[in-house]
Amino acid sequence: MSRIRGGCLCGAVRYLSKSEPVMTALCHCTHCQRQSGGAFSVNVAVAKGSLEFQGSEPATYEDRGESGGKVLRRFCGKCGSSLLSEVDATPTLDWLKAGTLDDTSWVQPQASIWCDSAQA
Ligand SMILES: [Zn+2]
Ligand SMILES: [Zn+2]
Repeated sequence: MSRIRGGCLCGAVRYLSKSEPVMTALCHCTHCQRQSGGAFSVNVAVAKGSLEFQGSEPATYEDRGESGGKVLRRFCGKCGSSLLSEVDATPTLDWLKAGTLDDTSWVQPQASIWCDSAQA
């Protein structure tokens, strides 16, 4: 069974993927700080299009990255949990928010990005 299985806080949106995670990165960008309410977000990359949703489809907020590319921030329309981002700059990957996984025991960040805007 794939390690990629999870959902939002209220359970309206559930997801799974048969693909294995590609990498895990911490993002310190100010947009992730605002969206998550935390100091950074923990993002697990999976192959684009490999996620299957069960229950409701996530809602979408269309954000822009610093390069001007689109960042589709997808979240539960009912409880507001951030679920994943689709980033124009990484067209082969979807970035899942690790905190929504059912099992986070294997999550090991390998990189940090946007460190200039990291909270002290
Ligand atoms: Zn929800
Ligand atoms: Zn970010």
